Amino acid sequence: MDPHLIPYAERQAPRYTSYPSAPHFDASVDGALYSGWLGALNETSTLSLYLHVPFCRQLCSYCGCNTFLTRGRDIPDFVTSMMMEIDLAASALGSHNVVELHWGGGTPNILSSAEFSLIKRHIDFWFDLAPNLAHAIELDPRYVTPELAETYVAAGVNRASLGVQDFNAHVQTAIGRVQPFEQVRDAVRTLRCAGLDNLSFDLMYGLPSQSCADLANSIKLAAKLKPNRISLFGYAHVPWFKRRQRLIDADALPGADERFEQAELARRMLGDLGYESIGLDHFARPDDALAAAARAHDLSRNFQGYVATHSDAIIGFGPSAISHLPQGYAQNIATVGAWRRAIEFGHLPIQRGHVQSADDARRGAIIEAIMCDLEVDLGPWGGRTVFADALETLAPLAAEGLVEIDGDIIRVPATMRQFCRLAAMAFDAYAAKAATNHSRAI
Ligand code: SF4
Repeated sequence: MDPHLIPYAERQAPRYTSYPSAPHFDASVDGALYSGWLGALNETSTLSLYLHVPFCRQLCSYCGCNTFLTRGRDIPDFVTSMMMEIDLAASALGSHNVVELHWGGGTPNILSSAEFSLIKRHIDFWFDLAPNLAHAIELDPRYVTPELAETYVAAGVNRASLGVQDFNAHVQTAIGRVQPFEQVRDAVRTLRCAGLDNLSFDLMYGLPSQSCADLANSIKLAAKLKPNRISLFGYAHVPWFKRRQRLIDADALPGADERFEQAELARRMLGDLGYESIGLDHFARPDDALAAAARAHDLSRNFQGYVATHSDAIIGFGPSAISHLPQGYAQNIATVGAWRRAIEFGHLPIQRGHVQSADDARRGAIIEAIMCDLEVDLGPWGGRTVFADALETLAPLAAEGLVEIDGDIIRVPATMRQFCRLAAMAFDAYAAKAATNHSRAI
């Protein structure tokens, strides 16, 4: 990377899985308002359901998710509360047409086959699932069993995403997550033997003690297992937000220059291996639905990252889950106990959110286009004169070659895609108003 670009790489920027980003949510949204939003959906509206399982058997020190350590005793109560929350939301909903179902966490495969099936049957009771339902689950490869794999396939799960991060022992030790290649290989084999062939791997760069050679080794090993998709996330060191990251040795983290080189090395290697580059940090085989959606400029971005499925609303269940409806965002209470108590009192367990204005809607659409397509045409949104403030912010980026401005078209060159969060941030009215700590742009 040119040394003069380093200050840009070190700038903090949201990941833009929502607009505004979650730190800007406030108490203006509560359960009563959210209930009205659910009821306002009409019977043809399509839904994505997100189920957040906020438990793990071990906590990894690099993790930024909302998750809690458990030995398992609290899981039966969690399952009961999850079903009660589904009852509350489904009773209020004006539509029950589901096109996407996603189990995230935490560790969804901490649920036993019986617990998973109980929740799934509850979903089947309340909702009409599309015949071509996109049904995905995030899995910890250390806890994949033949029984669970068969349960997922019987329930119609058609994509599993495995948390891999890095295959090198010294990096795994540095991030507090030890899972040798053979363990991941066995999990892949178990899932494929059960008939679940559509696999995504999550890899990371910018980890403590991780070099370019380590990342290259991880990619080579990952490729042997032939995942359909790979997400390559830059490790976000935000110890002021995630206390467990204080266990990470900040001195062992690669600098901005090396992070850039790692991400570019990975992109070159994955391209040579036949993966298409999607948005900021995803890769997919050409025959994968995500690659097809990217080629057709039909990608969406939400809390799961890039998705090929479109829906009118995302309904989240579980502690800290975020719902997105045409009127705005609603986020559940983050702690398990308080989330359960609200549900037991018969309340939708909403803690905060954001009511979307017309300006939010158009800025959000512009930001999503930049994040998905690396390009946006401001014409349909009123043209460049309406966004004079953003154009002013973009001018220095354009002078450095990080963006191109061509009339109403704003474009991030493919070679500069790592900087697309900075281009998106130029349109973020909230980022300008309040200094909020985010991860670095690269
Ligand atoms: S990385 Fe995954 S397994 Fe590790 S603490 Fe986070 S959610 Fe749990």
